[in-house]
Amino acid sequence: MSREQLEDFFLSLGEPRYRSMQVFKAVHQRRLQSFDEMTDLPKKLRAKLEDTADISRLSVGSRYVSTDGTRRYLMKTADGYPVETVFIPTENRDTICFSSQSGCPLKCDFCLTAKLGLLRNLTVGEIIEQMIIVLNDVYGVAAETPHGTNLVGMGAGEPFLNFDNLIAALGIMADENGLFIVPNRVTISTAGIVPRIYDLAKVVHRPHLAISLSSPRDEQRDVLMPINKKWDLDELMTAAKEFEGSLRRGERFTFEYVMLGGVNDSDRDAIDLADLLRRYQLTRVKINLIPHNGAEQLDYKASSSERVDRFKKILESRGVDAYVRTPRGRDIYAACGQLAAKSEPDLVQIRAI
Ligand code: SAH
Repeated sequence: MSREQLEDFFLSLGEPRYRSMQVFKAVHQRRLQSFDEMTDLPKKLRAKLEDTADISRLSVGSRYVSTDGTRRYLMKTADGYPVETVFIPTENRDTICFSSQSGCPLKCDFCLTAKLGLLRNLTVGEIIEQMIIVLNDVYGVAAETPHGTNLVGMGAGEPFLNFDNLIAALGIMADENGLFIVPNRVTISTAGIVPRIYDLAKVVHRPHLAISLSSPRDEQRDVLMPINKKWDLDELMTAAKEFEGSLRRGERFTFEYVMLGGVNDSDRDAIDLADLLRRYQLTRVKINLIPHNGAEQLDYKASSSERVDRFKKILESRGVDAYVRTPRGRDIYAACGQLAAKSEPDLVQIRAI
């Protein structure tokens, strides 16, 4: 619930307005996950809340810790659907990668989450609670959220197919009386749901945008990312150009490009990609090259690091900024495209909570 919705809820219970703020802070700032812990509330009110409301709708089934410090959480909704969240520590800042859907309806050929199909959209609460669970696990309950925690909407699911819940969740997470994670520290990735790119451009306090491209040609993108048959590259790049016009000063947006060995990583592909950006006069963009993360059920292999370097150099020689995304947590199936509720016993399960 937003602060306003929570206020209405407390008024409907016949409780004074200030109680709603107390509970908002308890949930989002202190990150308490049961009414019992809210000892600053009268016992009677706690009992009433217990009867009428839910404070937690996710439970953690298991947690895996990678040799590189990445943590992967396999959670379940109250009605039993899988949700995956990843914590990625880096030297300067930590990042939480959250999911927007249980499973995913898009059938990207190189992605393991796609094999699940769509199970269902996550609610506003289920989106936010992923951060609460991870922050409590990493920093301790009620510990202050370290400044600089970044969020990426790059977990399971297509965020732009759950747009309203996503935007509502981001609004609540930005609240200074809550998690206080402002949209400027959030990046949302879409496979190319074109109408929502136009919508996002109009959102005032909005997150950064990343678009998964993975091919510069329609014939190839149709195969790799079937959503391309609904909105082709021309429609996608036209929307991207419009979005570019809405960027703030100094802001850029990102195209992600999964590097599939022998498929989309040739010199020709790099040249076509640079040409595509030029044709739409896109200048305030950078390309994130993502080495493919493999899995048994996937027919692709990663490009060699020499190939990735060469691809990057070609882009750079044509004036396009390109970066290589270091894969994190591959050993525990936490990396991009690997989130499919895999919990083999051979994964080192450090602690089940
Ligand atoms: N549905 C959204 C959000 C997922 S973000 C989207 O497609 O953008 C996950 C990123 O990982 C996307 O850029 C996707 O293309 C990429 N990805 C998917 N499978 C992958 C894999 N096996 N290896 C590396 N990257 C992958």
